[in-house]
Amino acid sequence: MTSEPGAVSETFAFACRSCGHTWEATFQVMFFTDPTDAAGLHTQEYVDEDGVAIRSPLTDAVCTRCGSRRVRVTTPGAGRPAHDPAG
Ligand SMILES: [Zn+2]
Repeated sequence: MTSEPGAVSETFAFACRSCGHTWEATFQVMFFTDPTDAAGLHTQEYVDEDGVAIRSPLTDAVCTRCGSRRVRVTTPGAGRPAHDPAG
């Protein structure tokens, strides 16, 4: 048993729309439930491989090769775009 809060590893696949570079990154998704909230308020937070909390891998994706922000992010399980800033 462990007292760790709920956390799951999620691997996201990134694809740059400018240069075609593709890569993957794994994040820990931490789930928090406020025990004092009768409604069971539920929040989640992403933590990158360095243990740094980030807002979301989907909003700050930048191509590691060309620096473009036109990056498409997919989650392997869903197999569909999770975020497409270029619309
Ligand atoms: Zn690129």
